[in-house]
Amino acid sequence: MSDNLTFNLTTSTPNIQTAEVLPDEAVQHERVIIIGSGPAGLTAALYTARAQLNPLVIAGHELGGQVSLTYEIENYPGFPEGLSGQELVELMKRQAERFGARIKMFSAVSEVDFSHGSPFTVKTDDNGVYLADTVIVTVGATPRHLNVPGEKELTGNGVSYCATCDGFFFRDKRVVVVGGGDSALEEALFLTRFASRVDIVHRRDQLRAGQMLQKRTFENEKIHFIWNTVVERINGSSGKVESVLLRNVETSEITEYPTDGVFIFIGHDPNSDLFDGQLERDAFGYVVTDREMRTNIDGVFAAGEIQDRVYRQVATSVGQGTAAAMSAERWLAAREG
Ligand SMILES: Cc1cc2nc3c(=O)[nH]c(=O)nc-3n(C[C@H](O)[C@H](O)[C@H](O)COP(=O)(O)OP(=O)(O)OC[C@H]3O[C@@H](n4cnc5c(N)ncnc54)[C@H](O)[C@@H]3O)c2cc1C
Repeated sequence: MSDNLTFNLTTSTPNIQTAEVLPDEAVQHERVIIIGSGPAGLTAALYTARAQLNPLVIAGHELGGQVSLTYEIENYPGFPEGLSGQELVELMKRQAERFGARIKMFSAVSEVDFSHGSPFTVKTDDNGVYLADTVIVTVGATPRHLNVPGEKELTGNGVSYCATCDGFFFRDKRVVVVGGGDSALEEALFLTRFASRVDIVHRRDQLRAGQMLQKRTFENEKIHFIWNTVVERINGSSGKVESVLLRNVETSEITEYPTDGVFIFIGHDPNSDLFDGQLERDAFGYVVTDREMRTNIDGVFAAGEIQDRVYRQVATSVGQGTAAAMSAERWLAAREG
């Protein structure tokens, strides 16, 4: 790991000491702009950089994307012992930068205009204005909220969407995990490193998670399941969670269940609102692409979870980032003869 970069696992953002922050420019013309710095974006950056396209990555406010929130990744090929999400992000970033990718940190795209074709206009929330011959969209997805009373008020005070970031604060405490998919189980297992008891509240009577993960979860004596149940309210006072109000969806019975924390892992929404009216999206809001990662706009490509609601893995996002970068490169080459 780089000496220049330290990680603080108690926060969701790496402590970047030497992050390159480009100054605000008037209008800067780029050959390739990559929006997002998750696995898809950093891989697209690597490939377009190696193709001498000098890509600019607009990182967004979460360098590394969802991976940076992941404590341990055991299923990314090439790392038989596994590694932390933040280590993987740092390695991907360094590899892309080695070939000339520029990463604009702490800046998100606030507006795009694809309506007039290439060059496309891209504006950032720090007043940057760019023209890009081609754009690769890799803005990923965001964890879904329960939208129950108390959730918003107690977020950061016992309500969390990131066990990696906040698990440490729950040493010897009881926590509730909401959800029944891979993320919920992975994070519940991680939380057993700290918490004395982890209750998984799931709205159904069976899990959606993979079989291996289920087995590990069922075998963990700290983990308990509350089936057919939803969280109706999160209670707390003096800035900390004290209990959840649970409703059994079959009997409608309401129970107040004491807990010190609530970790919510109930799915994700694609970060595609920015492209409303410009890029074609499916019924769930995911950007529609073909096999070459082309969107409905000639010269705009998309990769990773912004266009994939099925596989949602680092390895698949990396593969899609590769494909988008190669397609963008070919598109530019064809256009430039
Ligand atoms: C808790 C958890 C555990 C996981 N564990 C694993 C695992 O063990 N193995 C595995 O393979 N996968 C795992 N995943 C899934 C994996 O992290 C995702 O599939 C992968 O990160 C998706 O990559 P992505 O690049 O498409 O998008 P994301 O990772 O979502 O990244 C999106 C990027 O876009 C940026 N962005 C968003 N909006 C803007 C904007 N307006 N302007 C500029 N940038 C923007 C964000 O800052 C971010 O950098 C896990 C996910 C979670 C949440």
